[in-house]
Amino acid sequence: MKHLNEISVGTLSGVGKVKKQAYEKAGVYSILDLLYYFPRAYEDRAHVKLLSETSLDEKCATVLTVATEPRIHNVRRGMSLLKFRAFDDSGVCEITYFNQNYLKEKFPIGSTFRFYGKIERQKSRYLMTSPAADAWVESSPPPPFVSVYRLCEGLSQKQIAQNVRDALSMASVSMPDPLPESVRQEHGLCTIYFALRQIHCPDSYQSLAIAKKRLIFDEFFLFATGLRAEAKQIQKATAPVCASVDIAPLLSLLPYELTSAQKRTIEEISRDLGRTTPMSRIVVGDVGCGKTVCATAAIYIAVKSGYQAALMAPTEILANQHYHDLAPMLEKLGISCALLTSSVTAANKKKIYAAMQSNDSSARLDVVIGTQALLSDGAELAAPGLVITDEQHRFGVNQRALLSEKNKHTHVLVMSATPIPRSLALVMYGDLKMSKIDEMPPGRQRVDTFLVDEGYRARLDAFIKKQVDEGGQVYVVCPAVEEQESESGELDMAAISIFGEEMQTFAIEEFQRKQKPPLKAAIQYADELSQRLEGYSVAFVHGKMKAADKDDVMRRFSLGEIQILVSTTVIEVGVNVPAACLMIVENAERFGLSQLHQLRGRVGRGQKKSYCVLVSGADGKLGENARQRLKTMCTCYNGFEIAEEDLKLRGPGDFLSLSGNSAIRQSGSLEFNLANMCEDADLMSEAFAAANKFIENDPTLETHAPLRAAAERMFCVRGDIIS
Ligand code: ADP
Ligand code: MG
Repeated sequence: MKHLNEISVGTLSGVGKVKKQAYEKAGVYSILDLLYYFPRAYEDRAHVKLLSETSLDEKCATVLTVATEPRIHNVRRGMSLLKFRAFDDSGVCEITYFNQNYLKEKFPIGSTFRFYGKIERQKSRYLMTSPAADAWVESSPPPPFVSVYRLCEGLSQKQIAQNVRDALSMASVSMPDPLPESVRQEHGLCTIYFALRQIHCPDSYQSLAIAKKRLIFDEFFLFATGLRAEAKQIQKATAPVCASVDIAPLLSLLPYELTSAQKRTIEEISRDLGRTTPMSRIVVGDVGCGKTVCATAAIYIAVKSGYQAALMAPTEILANQHYHDLAPMLEKLGISCALLTSSVTAANKKKIYAAMQSNDSSARLDVVIGTQALLSDGAELAAPGLVITDEQHRFGVNQRALLSEKNKHTHVLVMSATPIPRSLALVMYGDLKMSKIDEMPPGRQRVDTFLVDEGYRARLDAFIKKQVDEGGQVYVVCPAVEEQESESGELDMAAISIFGEEMQTFAIEEFQRKQKPPLKAAIQYADELSQRLEGYSVAFVHGKMKAADKDDVMRRFSLGEIQILVSTTVIEVGVNVPAACLMIVENAERFGLSQLHQLRGRVGRGQKKSYCVLVSGADGKLGENARQRLKTMCTCYNGFEIAEEDLKLRGPGDFLSLSGNSAIRQSGSLEFNLANMCEDADLMSEAFAAANKFIENDPTLETHAPLRAAAERMFCVRGDIIS
């Protein structure tokens, strides 16, 4: 029998080519995908109110008896109204449907229905327009909840609900439980079928809670077993043993002494490189603590031991900067180095590939620095020894897997400037060992941070001028280039209430964050700013510019030719311009705290006293929670503490999201479907412990095929499995 993962949604009744495409756009390809397309909320129709208890404009359920025969009014051609009155003990309500004359037979006088919809009032009369109506029988009331799905264009709620019901009935006969029975029983969890049915069509709050618990447990368990299985694979592999190389020649080229944290980290790396077990180590440390030099030392050791090294960065700008910083130094040490990004011409790429793959060690390229382009076919190393990824958290797990697959027999070093909270690091990196650089190079200053609103605009302009007049440079960061479309224009409060107050507050804030204030289009902003600051050189860089143009602007900024650089977050990681002393962040409430901390780390790298100004709340109105978050930035200067705070206030999405793309989850970045690492912390530890225990006895997940399939599914890109 075919697995539900192999049966396309297109086989469901009512799903033709167009609807199939609509589903695929939402990341739903198979029946199994659809079963895991959970409702975003539930309408609580069980809580029936009297008409007199309802408040204006509120969606609610009432139980009413039809009092008058439904009448059809033809208002104009193509538009008719069906009207009747219905009552309860507290009042009378006039009910109207548009263009649905066939409903006339549905509402005979004296029949009773549960109506659900928005209640309006006209003098003493209540009105409902097109309410949902379910026949009401006291002894067996209609289902209490109605699921609300994230709308995909081209699909109605009704359509999705119907398809889900069909998928559920398929699952009832052929859905293997991914969780091993022993684990399920030990942790008192319901079956997968029960969980899926209840998450889509809950019978009660209790059963919904039971279902959620099971599904959240699954997410953590699968994630952990998948990662652990990968880690076990790595432990079994072997990597080239590097010699114990004296790094003094490298150190002699540095204009500074290493901090003791850097020395310790390099020692740890060097020890790992000397073993046959592949290194898998993450170096974490606050922005500017000097991780790059540790990576450079690792490269030096690998190359001097006769192997090649690759350094991968998440953005082109950062790859360029690494190349320009490292290449001259490495070349002085007799190490050849090339830059490989997607903007390298095809002809040059070919040359680089050839040098990478060369078996002749004198013609062979020692070090390649680049972006994801390093993962493309053809970019193979003849003698790979070490792979380093910078700012790892920005890559999806999937890319990470790819990288380690491609380089199964190499040492892997990961560097992260986002101080990842411990709980998160554990899940993301599984068995990676950690080196923590908890010390800044001497002489670093604190970047004083202020939170201001639009009222300070004039003073802020004056401050910019003052800084530039004194020889400083300024970054201005705006959230995005174009006006962002809001994802969904609606917020269903009644629906969200089922998830409790905390969720509700979160949802509202998320909603506000998406809605307002309107985004400053960076382009327009740069224009306005250069007009206001006439005589100063203002330039603009954003993610959609051609790489060559971007580089040009960045180069001129680092040479000091440009004084004020307006940008989107492309400068977020890595860039190093010592004269920059002022960082202004517009619409600061739209950034995660860790992101702001990273941005702030771009300044304060030189002698000049540096500042960070967070501008927020265009209309002076900023939610209390949002203000608290931003206030944290003004009092806290430790990246690790900020990260913990951020995780508490916003959940893990910020650390990991690559974009708002809904297909991202499937590609394995760390956005769980239901699970929330803060709210479900207890369940998370329980599931991780269970996963560890299971993996001990069955490292390759062989004893339970559905588990293995589900874990693999969590880490793979979708759409390629089903025709
Ligand atoms: P990050 O950890 O954010 O990647 P970098 O490696 O880019 O930080 O280092 C930031 C800056 O600090 C660079 O200009 C680098 O030359 C400098 N630096 C690194 N280590 C030291 C040190 N021990 N003493 C002084 N400056 C250092
Ligand atoms: Mg760095």
